[in-house]
Amino acid sequence: MEAERKNVCIVGGGLVGSLCACFIAKRGYKVDLFEMRQDFRADATVHGRSINLALSHRGLEALERVGLREKVTKSGIPMHARMIHSLDGKTRPIPYGRTGQFIMSVDRMGLNGVLLTEAESQPNITIHFGHKLVSCDPTTGETVFSTDDSTVKRTYDLIVGCDGAFSAVRKSMMRHCRFDYEQRYIEHGYMEIAFPPSESGGHCMATNYLHIWPRNQFMLIALPNLDGSFTGTMFMPFELFDQLKSPEAVVKFYRDTFPDALELLGEKTVVDTILSLKALPLVSIRCQPYHLNDKMLIIGDAAHAMVPFYGQGMNCGFEDCIILDDLMQQFGHDFGKVLPAFTNSRVEDAHAIVDLALYNYIEMRQSVNSVTFLLRKKLDNALNWLLPNHWVPLYTMVTFSRTPYSRAITDRRWQDRVLGRLLCAAAVAASVCAACAACAVHRVGVTRALRTHWSQMAFRASRMIEGLRKA
Ligand code: FAD
Repeated sequence: MEAERKNVCIVGGGLVGSLCACFIAKRGYKVDLFEMRQDFRADATVHGRSINLALSHRGLEALERVGLREKVTKSGIPMHARMIHSLDGKTRPIPYGRTGQFIMSVDRMGLNGVLLTEAESQPNITIHFGHKLVSCDPTTGETVFSTDDSTVKRTYDLIVGCDGAFSAVRKSMMRHCRFDYEQRYIEHGYMEIAFPPSESGGHCMATNYLHIWPRNQFMLIALPNLDGSFTGTMFMPFELFDQLKSPEAVVKFYRDTFPDALELLGEKTVVDTILSLKALPLVSIRCQPYHLNDKMLIIGDAAHAMVPFYGQGMNCGFEDCIILDDLMQQFGHDFGKVLPAFTNSRVEDAHAIVDLALYNYIEMRQSVNSVTFLLRKKLDNALNWLLPNHWVPLYTMVTFSRTPYSRAITDRRWQDRVLGRLLCAAAVAASVCAACAACAVHRVGVTRALRTHWSQMAFRASRMIEGLRKA
């Protein structure tokens, strides 16, 4: 069989690389998966603290295709809504979608472990831990890896870079073609903080929610873990992290901004965490093309790292695997056709989700506090209920469907225009009714009354539309 004669090299055994290996092996190719770290499954020290991710439709479909959906979801926790924590300690849920729609909190290491174990079980995949890609040549397919004590050289028919935001494969592509590249750090960083289980061993907050403490310029979020803990993440400007230099400053900050979280975390955890850890940066990467000749491809964060606010980085990387698999199905073993088709079908959508992820930070930390945002959500939900096939809210398209990300943005713009017109029409109708009522009461001329009421209504409607647009 032709597939058996082709050798594929996957660089990076993270979430996307290990899943991609499973997909490609199913097509019959011989796959070598290289990961620079040692095998964390054998290392008990990395299993201490849980770090979790939100898995949604696109990721789930990819797992389904390699037969792992059930295994992964069994150890995940459904989150049906955001739970907003106000400053006064009150909480209110904002559902993610319709009843029955949810995203899943899954353990990052657990998921990576399941994917690596699945890859290992395939006879045509060999995993090489402790191998760091040093260089690769997109014309010959030659690769060089370094290990603790040696250098390994191999040649491949296809090299797939799944080596994350600071991809070595991408770097080598840059030198060989007209490669567009843009990297952007945002001014905010993140730091994880662990909420312990309650005294009874259960969760200390409502379990099936993604908890958010939105404070306009910054926020704290928390996702549940199976062991009863929550993994919290603070997203704040670096300047603000830098001000938290003493135990007193840390406790005062938490008391002033996240008082209910402070009670659950305890002063010691908050102080120890913030004073001992360093806030980490968040980067967005847009580039193109994603391939070079018939030899090299980048997917996952290597192609489109994004800030984590739409919970789509991994999901989008998993969807890359589906798209690559579909193209391999369509074009067979002709990588000369598969790879350019991947770039053509993916760049616009990947750029779209990178943008949406940046936008969603404002929604999470700020807009969820605003009345117009909530009104817009209610309107969207009502219209979605009335016209389920025609009116799908942006969040639903991104999270609960495989609608191309770029189309989700176009549809949202179209919805904004329709809503704007509907609101104008409603304002005119209300103004006519009000003017007629005023005429009847005051016996003034209809035209004059209409003019007065119209200008008032138009002013109100324009403010409302503006508010909705911002939401
Ligand atoms: P990575 O996970 O970065 O894996 C790359 C792998 O390549 C690593 O194992 C690395 O060791 C290896 N590697 C690197 N260089 C080399 C080399 N030279 N040679 C060999 N191996 C190499 N996404 C979601 O979908 N939902 C979420 O809720 C979510 N939350 C997030 C929260 C935070 C705080 C952050 C920072 C990200 C979040 N993401 C989320 C994004 C998600 O983590 C990434 O999109 C995902 O990990 C990308 O997977 P990847 O395999 O492409 O890259």
